[in-house]
Amino acid sequence: MALEDYKKKRDFSKTPEPEGKVETRKGKERFFCVQKHLASHLHYDFRLEHNGVLLSWAVPKGPSLDPKVKRLAMKVEDHPVAYGEFEGVIPEGYGAGIVMLWDVGTWTPEGSDIDAALKKGDLKFTLNGFKLKGSWVLVRTGGRYAGARGGGDRSWLLIKHRDDWAGDVDITEFAPRSVKSEGDFEDILGEDTPAVWQSNRPAKGGDAGAMLAQIIERAAKLKATRAARPDTKDTKDTKDTKDTKGTKPKRSKRASGKK
Ligand code: MN
Repeated sequence: MALEDYKKKRDFSKTPEPEGKVETRKGKERFFCVQKHLASHLHYDFRLEHNGVLLSWAVPKGPSLDPKVKRLAMKVEDHPVAYGEFEGVIPEGYGAGIVMLWDVGTWTPEGSDIDAALKKGDLKFTLNGFKLKGSWVLVRTGGRYAGARGGGDRSWLLIKHRDDWAGDVDITEFAPRSVKSEGDFEDILGEDTPAVWQSNRPAKGGDAGAMLAQIIERAAKLKATRAARPDTKDTKDTKDTKDTKGTKPKRSKRASGKK
């Protein structure tokens, strides 16, 4: 696996994403991460380190801790291991939007042959992250799943196995923030240039468009507040009005999931 697709899709003079390379990291535990990515649509990029790259699936609704819930996971191009630390703003081109490092940790395969499991389309594994733990499976559907029309053999399902780490808490709602910066999307954008997509927003209509419009507004306010009070690094006091929809349950201020 040589990251050709990853490099082909990106212009590294225009994106802050790492160019990266295939890494040989022997004797280390296998890394995994989930990046929450607001691009044309909100999705969660689920990545497992294997053979020097990050195998990657885009999960539109994000992982669920409920074993009854099967989440569509579209296989996408392998990413460099260095991508697993990335959080930031992609100003233009492929994946333009905001990337948040939503969870990180290590993973362990539950079988002895990862390549055979991938080929078979049935990979069982254990996660040890801040938010995601315990036993999971990725199963290839071969396009049979109703939500994956046209996906061909790129469509898989991400499912939690029943164990002590399963439950009916909505983990994406309960722990929405970054495990790297503890910030939300507006904080990440506020650290960068809130007006970067003034004329060409990556998400225009629908839920993602509305979400992005609000994030841009909040990021601009955060940045202005910070500029007015350069000694004030802690912006957490301004977070109370941040829920994007009135129907959302009020979440804990400390619900970033970070230990
Ligand atoms: Mn993505």
